[in-house]
Amino acid sequence: MDIVIKNGVVLTLNSSKSIFEKGMIIIENDTITFSGEEHSASIPQHSKIIDAKGGIIMPGMINTHTHVGMSLFRTLADDTADRLRKYLFPLEEKFVTPDLVYWASLYSLTEMIEGGTTTFADMYYFEDKVADAAVQAGVRGILGESILNFPSPDTKEPYGGFENTEKFLELYSNHPLITPALAPHAPYSLNMRNLKKTAHLADKWDIPVLSHLAEMPFEIKQIAEEYGMSPVELYSTAGLLSKRLTAAHCIYVNNEDINLLKASGTGVAHNVSANLKSAKGIAPVLQMASRDIPIGLGTDGPMSGNTMDVVNLLGYTAKIHKFDNKDRTVMPPAKVIEMATIGGARALHIDGKTGSLETGKKADVIIVSTESTAMFPIYDYYSALVYCASPRDVNTVIINGELVMEDRKIKTFNKKETKSEAEKIVMNIKKELGNF
Ligand SMILES: [Zn+2]
Repeated sequence: MDIVIKNGVVLTLNSSKSIFEKGMIIIENDTITFSGEEHSASIPQHSKIIDAKGGIIMPGMINTHTHVGMSLFRTLADDTADRLRKYLFPLEEKFVTPDLVYWASLYSLTEMIEGGTTTFADMYYFEDKVADAAVQAGVRGILGESILNFPSPDTKEPYGGFENTEKFLELYSNHPLITPALAPHAPYSLNMRNLKKTAHLADKWDIPVLSHLAEMPFEIKQIAEEYGMSPVELYSTAGLLSKRLTAAHCIYVNNEDINLLKASGTGVAHNVSANLKSAKGIAPVLQMASRDIPIGLGTDGPMSGNTMDVVNLLGYTAKIHKFDNKDRTVMPPAKVIEMATIGGARALHIDGKTGSLETGKKADVIIVSTESTAMFPIYDYYSALVYCASPRDVNTVIINGELVMEDRKIKTFNKKETKSEAEKIVMNIKKELGNF
């Protein structure tokens, strides 16, 4: 059905950041066919009309790095030292099954939709189950099976992720919402031969690549000892830096690394909240942005960043970079909203398809209500979104032309059933943890 959204302020996030104060969006099938002032277009017959009630109509937010299948482990062993290797990998080996991944993903997707996220990039295990959940929820996903040098929950073989990726690719090629990706876990968890193999297969299969990169001090040390180079140089040598790659974190990058990222067209997923929580460091986002490296925002997994919506990242992104640079002018709210929307689309190399409200783009649109107490008064829409909004202000979500949430009600799946299935799994985890 065609949809018309009117009676709201349209933030287009187009190249001139046009704002339409009495704006209107017309959606036909999966595509935006009008974005402008209400008076300059007529409403097509038989369309569903959504009254934005004076709210903010904007592009859906893009979560450029996450692991949605981990939501049922949230708050477990938070703030334990060396959590990834001592705790997380063994925990996943014991508990991660296709059933857990499906319900955990759908639970994460509930939170993402309720927070206005319309696209997410994910790397985990049993990624076909993540895809099933995303299709059920109606959310756009770039999804990759993790590839590692040791057995993982979905394969007995080291590097079994390659085979899983090939199967996943067969299941989900040419899907309107799902784009399969290759997901080499990190520079320290694949050898050179398999990093090169990943780059080769990405070209052969013509698919994107998602990876962690330059995230941790032990990674920098290990790669320097093994190869005498930085993780970014290693990826460059392996042929992985390219317009296909979205690299998560990029905290420990020097000037030469930034040059390599820039020259290759690599996108960066900035996970500000997760990086602060784990005390890993602050990525040099301003230096990278000043070189026009595409940067989007990411929550990281629910064990790392805990909350799964992008709205919670907005204030952190503005404040930490201002604080870090001792300059309140360096990260204005418009720049943050750009990173949350079209910047994320650029970082995932899908900005031709989504990320802004422009004629011809896929209809990934949200309405943020301005009725809550903190959202008044508004002299600057970007400021209100970054410094005042909460995820609960997101009222309506449309993805690929489909109404996924209307007036805070999710329309694509049963939220109650999802919670109760998740509860059963969590009860079992709690019981088993005694023996863990
Ligand atoms: Zn991650």
